Amino acid sequence: MWRMYNAGQEESTKVTHSFFRMIFNTRFNIGFGSPKTDVCSKCLELKERLKAANITEREKQKLLTEYRVHKERSKAFFSLLKEKREDMLTLSFDCQKNFALPKIPDQSVYYSRQFYLYNFTIVQGSSKDALTKENVFIYTWGEHEYPKGSNEIASALFHRLKNTDFTGTTVLRCVADGCGGQNKNTTMMFMLQYWFAKHAPNNLKKIEAVFPIPGHSFIPPDRVFAQIEKKLKKIETLVEPSEFDNILSESGTVFKPGRDYADHDWKKTSSAFLKPPAQWHFKFAPTLEIFRNEIIRC
Ligand SMILES: [Zn+2]
Repeated sequence: MWRMYNAGQEESTKVTHSFFRMIFNTRFNIGFGSPKTDVCSKCLELKERLKAANITEREKQKLLTEYRVHKERSKAFFSLLKEKREDMLTLSFDCQKNFALPKIPDQSVYYSRQFYLYNFTIVQGSSKDALTKENVFIYTWGEHEYPKGSNEIASALFHRLKNTDFTGTTVLRCVADGCGGQNKNTTMMFMLQYWFAKHAPNNLKKIEAVFPIPGHSFIPPDRVFAQIEKKLKKIETLVEPSEFDNILSESGTVFKPGRDYADHDWKKTSSAFLKPPAQWHFKFAPTLEIFRNEIIRC
């Protein structure tokens, strides 16, 4: 900034670095910090609009109301995630950020083609429950094996549902962030209905699908991801996918498509039975909760 300032000045008004620093530190209310990455864009937008100088009182009240509703909605979501009931089972799931292999302390890795490993994690229980290998289920594969799309996510969740003990459960609550590509889509909705009709035990009366407000969606799988990322950071060299699996298996029980369960083409099957969302009687994208009460069992 000092160089930029001097570049625009006549010889007589150029200043020294220390003088510039002194003025900058004492005459301006500006600070430096690393950008926060976990800030919700809606919160940010509303806060900035409220700060604007030319805002009328009426606009201000409108924005404040919008902000309060937004905050209340995110609180409502967290209370759903915290809720514990004898007759209810909660599953929350999400994808971890892709992990690129090989990881080596060598510049050349930046110029070579890396390949991705995926981790889709399902946690059974409320956000108050501890994380153990008995309630953390890690579904992992590489991009050389399967893509990372709605079919793979639905297949993993289907496997989990088929292997969960629903004794005494009347309500299944599924919590996932509203990422369209993976969690919130017709493929997933179809798979849940199919499982409900074909495989769910008779005592199960209701399925709830809960999608948090984007930006306020810290769910139990994120705690698992934080554990894993902390371990990965400490490792300098990681070349084999099996080494990645070993790290994952310290945080939960690991399953692999093709080996432990089938990767099914849910998308294709669903398109034969389900109308496209544009023809539904409600708008899918902004919907935060979907309920399905008992349906005719097949
Ligand atoms: Zn927000």
